[in-house]
Amino acid sequence: MRAAGDVRIEDVPDPSILDPTDAILRVTRACICGSDLWPYASMEPSETGQSMGHEAIGIVEDIGAEVRMLKRGDLVVMPFAISDGTCEFCHQGLQTECVHVAFFGNNGMNGAQAEALRIPYADGTLYKLLVREDDALMPSLLTLADVLGTGHHAAVLAKVAPGTSAAVVGDGAVGLCGVIAAKRLGAEQIIIMGRHEDRLRLAKEFGATDVVSERGEEAVERVHELTGGFGAHSVLECVGLNQSTETAISIARPGGAVGRVGVPQDPMMPGSQAAFYGNITVGGGPAPVRAYIDELLPDILEGRINPGKVFDRNIGLDEVPDGYRAMADRESIKVMVTP
Ligand SMILES: [Zn+2]
Repeated sequence: MRAAGDVRIEDVPDPSILDPTDAILRVTRACICGSDLWPYASMEPSETGQSMGHEAIGIVEDIGAEVRMLKRGDLVVMPFAISDGTCEFCHQGLQTECVHVAFFGNNGMNGAQAEALRIPYADGTLYKLLVREDDALMPSLLTLADVLGTGHHAAVLAKVAPGTSAAVVGDGAVGLCGVIAAKRLGAEQIIIMGRHEDRLRLAKEFGATDVVSERGEEAVERVHELTGGFGAHSVLECVGLNQSTETAISIARPGGAVGRVGVPQDPMMPGSQAAFYGNITVGGGPAPVRAYIDELLPDILEGRINPGKVFDRNIGLDEVPDGYRAMADRESIKVMVTP
């Protein structure tokens, strides 16, 4: 990406091992993320540009001398954050706070919308899969790199529990995966908030019981009506804008919790007083998706969940610029890239 709206496919030198803990990943599947649309809308022109993409599945092509857990030919998921796998945050299952954390396709880090890329701390970062490269479950497995784990993180932070009500703010791929996660964790009522017909249909298929398409005050009223006047026990904020965050806090019932996974677009957090007077817990951050794979993978392999349905388009590398456009125009929910 060279500037807002300016995505190009460029030839760059092949990646190579720089540190003994590196691996080289040949990308077999990647995708475009809703969070890639923020720079697509607002990035200042840049001479060097930013190599994009932070979700991938691929084959380990080469490893450094100190890589112990992986070998050439392994098929792996690449979560969006680099983690060393050895620090106290990694041991705690919070790899996105690793002392060596960096995010692929951000701040000069190499990106996965590419044929190949270098993976620092390969042992701690990559997660080995025991399926074939052409497995039919590949789209669902690809969601383990970000959107499924991120939706799950929102549900965990929002304290979704059996028999409770959950509201999901945002009908993008993360919000839709939030519906899957809320259902997995036992929510009895799941309210999806959004206004795109195709996405809402998928949300219902994933387990949403109610749809709220209003915004602002009206949306808050509607959710209160649907939840016996009190609001939802759990709210998953999957957008990141001030209005959506304010709505999320306003629809949580007293004593409830909001899990924020939408990348905040403002340094200030709205809804402070509403959260305070409602005794509402507000938590959030980049999801440690690496930690959640152990829990989520069996549900994919055994067919209990099918998050790969968020992909409604599969393109080659050459079509990536148009893939950005299609997602920005809401023509596509999420675009998969097969280099
Ligand atoms: Zn670490």
